[in-house]
Amino acid sequence: MASSKPQTPGVDLKSIIRSIPDYPKTGIIFRDISTLIADGSGFKQSVRQLAAPYLDQNIDKVVGIEARGFIFGGAVADLLGVGFVPIRKQGKLPGKVVGQDYELEYGSDRIELHEDAIAPGERVLLLDDLIATGGTASAAVDLVRRVEGEIVATAFVIDLPDLKGADLLREKGVAVHTLVAFEGL
Ligand code: AMP
Repeated sequence: MASSKPQTPGVDLKSIIRSIPDYPKTGIIFRDISTLIADGSGFKQSVRQLAAPYLDQNIDKVVGIEARGFIFGGAVADLLGVGFVPIRKQGKLPGKVVGQDYELEYGSDRIELHEDAIAPGERVLLLDDLIATGGTASAAVDLVRRVEGEIVATAFVIDLPDLKGADLLREKGVAVHTLVAFEGL
């Protein structure tokens, strides 16, 4: 008999993300996706849930942020049948790049994108494992816009809503899709 109930996902993704207190420093709880990606059903479900809203959105490129964004981004690109483009830390990409500085709690960092990796007007889905303050993802959005890519949306496995990164992206006119949320830092 056909059921009208929405399909419930099989795996409780939150329960297979490991939390490590005081890493990399006191007061931070590190949300470790290595336990999620080591779980075949959990990894498969997270990739499907990240991609689901974009199956019919004519995405041209999935862009992933180094390093954990590569794991989900590569799998989502394969599922959508489109190419994958890496955004990397400064000095890692061999071709001509555009770069963007962004603020960290102490000091700043820089990410880079190959300038020819996205054609003007291409529709981009930007992926990372986690959004905290949104500084990294916001800089990545700026890079994609600099090469005239169109950001259709950003997607993250984990949101830390208290750090308001998703709000920051929405204020820039960027749609945000997240799978699970953890309160606190
Ligand atoms: P932010 O720029 O503050 O949004 O930080 C996002 C980046 O830092 C992502 O690439 C995350 O992988 C990493 N990150 C920040 N906070 C955490 C955390 N509590 N646990 C795991 N990764 C984190």
